[in-house]
Amino acid sequence: MAGAPDPLAGLDPDQLAAVTAPRGPVCVLAGAGTGKTRTIVSRIGHLIHAGHVSAGQVLAVTFTARAAGEMRTRLRALDIHAAQARTFHAAALRQLRYFWPRVVGGEQWELIDGKLRLVGQVANKLGIGTERETLRDLASEIEWAKASLIAPADYPAAVARFRRETPAPAEKVAEVYTGYEALKNRAHQLDFDDLLLHTAAALEEHSAVAEEFRDRYRCFVVDEYQDVTPLQQRVLDAWLGRRDDLTVVGDANQTIYSFAGASARPLLDFTRRFPEATVVRLERDYRSTPEVVSLANRVISAARDRPAGSRLRLIGQRKPGPDPVFVEYDDEPGEATAVAGRIKDLIDQGVALSEIAVLFRINAQSEVYEQALTELGIPYLVRGGERFFNRQEIRQATATLRTAAVQSPTGELPKLVRSLLEPLGLTADPPSGGAARERWESLLALVELAEELAATVADADLARYVHELDLRAQAQHPPTVEGVTLASLHSAKGLEWDAVFLVGLVDGTLPIQHADGNEAQIEEERRLLYVGVTRAREHLSLTWALARAEGGKRYRRRSRFLYGLIPENHPTARVAASATRRRDRGMPMIRHCRVCGDELAGTMAFKLGRCETCPVDLDHGLLERLRQWRLERSKALRVPVYVIFTDATLLAIA
Ligand code: ATP
Ligand code: MG
Repeated sequence: MAGAPDPLAGLDPDQLAAVTAPRGPVCVLAGAGTGKTRTIVSRIGHLIHAGHVSAGQVLAVTFTARAAGEMRTRLRALDIHAAQARTFHAAALRQLRYFWPRVVGGEQWELIDGKLRLVGQVANKLGIGTERETLRDLASEIEWAKASLIAPADYPAAVARFRRETPAPAEKVAEVYTGYEALKNRAHQLDFDDLLLHTAAALEEHSAVAEEFRDRYRCFVVDEYQDVTPLQQRVLDAWLGRRDDLTVVGDANQTIYSFAGASARPLLDFTRRFPEATVVRLERDYRSTPEVVSLANRVISAARDRPAGSRLRLIGQRKPGPDPVFVEYDDEPGEATAVAGRIKDLIDQGVALSEIAVLFRINAQSEVYEQALTELGIPYLVRGGERFFNRQEIRQATATLRTAAVQSPTGELPKLVRSLLEPLGLTADPPSGGAARERWESLLALVELAEELAATVADADLARYVHELDLRAQAQHPPTVEGVTLASLHSAKGLEWDAVFLVGLVDGTLPIQHADGNEAQIEEERRLLYVGVTRAREHLSLTWALARAEGGKRYRRRSRFLYGLIPENHPTARVAASATRRRDRGMPMIRHCRVCGDELAGTMAFKLGRCETCPVDLDHGLLERLRQWRLERSKALRVPVYVIFTDATLLAIA
């Protein structure tokens, strides 16, 4: 491959050892930001460039559509186009399509997106509550059981073994599970887990299919292996057969899907299964500033029961940056407004929209940030491919384009797509904000996709474009929409941004309320915070609000994970100066120092809202502005200007 970029360029010696290890089992155990994903992409590149495998023989899998997309982008940068990088589900879907006529035959099955409707029908028949929340819990239980390879009849025993809390008595859940499977099969439908189950079964039970598959794919790579479920492992084993050409990378400290059946065990036990495996540990963190790395180390070192193999300490490689910021707000709308304001500042300073993310624990937290960003006219996108393709305007647009593609209009593709989408709201100028703006942004993304296709595929017409849209919808791989990312911590893993805002850090949200009393779940919540912290390259902000609604009672407490993380002299900013006064009315009896987090004792401490011995807390923004002002004045006056803070007064002297 003359002229192709060198996949070994820029790697450190440990990464190089993993990349150049001979074909066979390789395991990279390493912390966040140490270059695991980069290492596996480079390994694929190296194996192909050196002629050990051909690109078509490589199958790389990961867990989210976005991560798979990033892997493809990085592979393309190495001039590799035929290697597949997909989610487990997308890979299985593709294989099933191919094998289906031979292993099942008969009519086409339909893929269902979500289980709620079917679960609702069964629950209704069985007289179990049909509130949305119960149905969601029942659907998650079925997902957990299928991902854990537990059949309906074995469900009650498994629940007892795993000491799982269930949304209804275990026998009842098992009945719903049985009924759901029957209903789904009768209607010739497949759910997402069925894709994996059928793929594994096709390879296990049809030797000709297995042979053909294993002849085609010879080199397997798994990213984020710490979150593999027994079902995914079964598919992986079926893919491999007796071969051992498998590279896995993962970080047991980032296991965040064990509630859904995932486990770091296969990662940690990899060498037991493959004693001859090459094992590499990486410690150098290339993603984040030393300040962020140090905070990440503190978050994870507080974790209990860290298994051997996960006790790695990150060593920051980048130059120093700003300290992480911790800020407490009176209420959630106030927190969101302030975060949006801070985002605007960053954009004004030149940080790209796509380099900023707001991460939260539960999706419901997104709304208040959507509002706050809209008010400031800042475009955003809510992460998750499914969301994009489920949007009403995208469904309408796809239908319009599909219809137009059958009746075969001619013309330059991007122009054609644009003209067809105009009546749906793609005006020449963007609307100033709100829902119309979001709609406009997503429609524009469709035009940009048309531009991309026209640039890469000769003679791409509307039919080819609609086909591309279908493929992306199935793989849940949305086109890029430029904007600030709003995402749950779960969906953020593997990704990175220059600026990350971790919001809503109160007890009951992170850790989530239902984890209380269950140490394993609390530890998983702590790992979520670790995942969040380690997404930031440079700017990291951790915020929380004491009340949900504006002016509401301040019943919440900052997350228990924050105690011990906030440096003693950190100026935990508080907005609203009147807050202390108003807060006195609704506060519970026990209060905590807003600087160090200790329980408060004494009237004066209560009045101040912090220990008397703790340094005064100042608005961080104000502090920054003062610093700037001091520098400017010193320069102008040619004498050093100092700013002296006392508890209540602020003095500036030249
Ligand atoms: P995570 O656990 O969050 O998935 P990771 O270990 O997969 O993290 P990567 O995403 O591969 O980490 O790398 C983190 C960042 O560090 C990326 O921006 C990557 O390009 C950069 N990086 C990795 N290795 C090096 C290196 N040797 N030199 C410079 N930058 C590097
Ligand atoms: Mg990674």
